[in-house]
Amino acid sequence: MTAELPSLVLRGTTLRFAGNPFDMPPEEALIADPDGAIIIENGRISAVGSFSTLASTLPATLPIIDHRPCLIGPGFIDAHVHYPQFGVIASYGEQLLSWLERYVFPEERRFADRAYADSIAGAFLDSLLDHGTTTAAVYCTVHPESVDAFFSASRQRNTRMIAGKVLMDRNAPDFLRDTAQQGYDESRDLIDRWHGQGRQLYAVTPRFAPTSTEEQLTLAGALLDTAPDLFMQTHLLETKQEARWSKPFFPIVQAIWMSTIRPAS
Ligand SMILES: [Zn+2]
Repeated sequence: MTAELPSLVLRGTTLRFAGNPFDMPPEEALIADPDGAIIIENGRISAVGSFSTLASTLPATLPIIDHRPCLIGPGFIDAHVHYPQFGVIASYGEQLLSWLERYVFPEERRFADRAYADSIAGAFLDSLLDHGTTTAAVYCTVHPESVDAFFSASRQRNTRMIAGKVLMDRNAPDFLRDTAQQGYDESRDLIDRWHGQGRQLYAVTPRFAPTSTEEQLTLAGALLDTAPDLFMQTHLLETKQEARWSKPFFPIVQAIWMSTIRPAS
């Protein structure tokens, strides 16, 4: 692999961050150079600066790819996305729960088929790259095949992806339900197979409150302790309808809520 890593110079308007704009003046954090250069040696950035400054240091053999006047910046990071929903983008926007039942769950069922999962994973990642996104936190489906397909496609493209098998052991169609133990065991196998392999990272992924029992959530917590640097992703409540639906499943949370939140008098 390393023999194939490129060495080249990118020239164009470069945009980069010198630090966290929340920790320092934003105008000092953001650095834009109308004629910048990025030197890449063996697949890694070795220098960034203005082209006129760096030009004299460049080996004559290094190819220069001139992107002027286009902008060159770091890859975007998508903090939340579901790759199995790629095929139902733009389905009629109902309320969340009916939209899941009518469009998303039937589509997710198809990801038990590895070949179908492979085809969508590849198309999804190509689309991300087309839009400048090189890293994402991604939900797969309840099927381990959907995770293997996704990480395989990501490894082929050398993208950095954080993803995991969805955990759902109640309040979902039969064809999308696991059990608490099955969810644990399948996630554990996937962690062994993918976490830390190249740029691939695993996220323990209970879908949202109403679709996991307390037993499953407890085992999800235990999963997090089984390997260093694992991620966890889930959804907070997104609609009032979902909040009303979820309350009875977590009577302890409801009791705490009722005892601590007082209406304004
Ligand atoms: Zn989501």
